[in-house]
Amino acid sequence: MTTAIPTDRAQRITALGYDYAAQPKEAVASCNLCGASSFVVLAHRDRYGFPAETHACTTCGLVFLNPRMTPAAYERFYDGVYRPLVSAFHARTIDAHTIQGEQREYAIERARFARPFLERATLRSLLDIGGSTGVVAHHFAQEFGLEATLIDPAPLEVVEAQRLGLETVTGLIEQHPFGSRRFDLVLICQTVDHLLDIHAVLERVRHLLSLQGFLFIDIVDFRAAYLRNWSVEEAIKIDHPYYLTEETMTAYLRRAGFEILRTDYAADHLHVSYLCWPDAAVGDACPSRESVAELLREVRFVQNAPRPR
Ligand SMILES: [Zn+2]
Repeated sequence: MTTAIPTDRAQRITALGYDYAAQPKEAVASCNLCGASSFVVLAHRDRYGFPAETHACTTCGLVFLNPRMTPAAYERFYDGVYRPLVSAFHARTIDAHTIQGEQREYAIERARFARPFLERATLRSLLDIGGSTGVVAHHFAQEFGLEATLIDPAPLEVVEAQRLGLETVTGLIEQHPFGSRRFDLVLICQTVDHLLDIHAVLERVRHLLSLQGFLFIDIVDFRAAYLRNWSVEEAIKIDHPYYLTEETMTAYLRRAGFEILRTDYAADHLHVSYLCWPDAAVGDACPSRESVAELLREVRFVQNAPRPR
């Protein structure tokens, strides 16, 4: 079943003049989580109405856009398209200023979640990947006495982070060299779904973390996203190359050599957060065949069955 986009919303999005179909893209040939190459196509457009195909790996259940925009196309997207597009979708202004209130609340909640572990450790430095305006990094820095560095591809948001006195990098984590620097806490807040290569970033983070370091990461739970609107297309957006579930995120973390210390189902019933630290044993974890079959069955049911009344 295809959910129609309301006319006024479609008009606001059209008015932006963003030509998604014309953006340079690259095909994903192998699964970023398990390396397999057998995929099933779940959906043919996203919530904005753009012609974006969503695939799922039939081996591990990872869900992702395919093809998806090149890194250069995504850099242009974050430089002036992303926030206006989300604003047009929600019919209210969402920009580097208006998001800060929400980010402050988020920072307080997430710091509370991580506090039992962070306050008894000796930590000095923090790296926030996809750190946006710096509100979250700044809050963590103050709460736990850390020196914070932030990397984000959106220039207007990085300007805000500079105002908070943070060290900043404008760019994509996949492309920035950090040399021999190490960090005691890495935050990947509401960002993992935006990454282009989750596997590479988690491996990178594992090396960027000091021995006693921590990683905080959270996902938009893909199942929660499609079940709440009973629509797969409504859960898809070109800003998210990936759509994670508890099973796929847990497998990613184990494979990259992280042990999960605590999991949190957020009060919004949409996000799931994890606090992790390096684990000497790198697991060869893959979601079970049953869980993959269950996911694909449920997606097909939601796609093809009428919305429950
Ligand atoms: Zn896979």
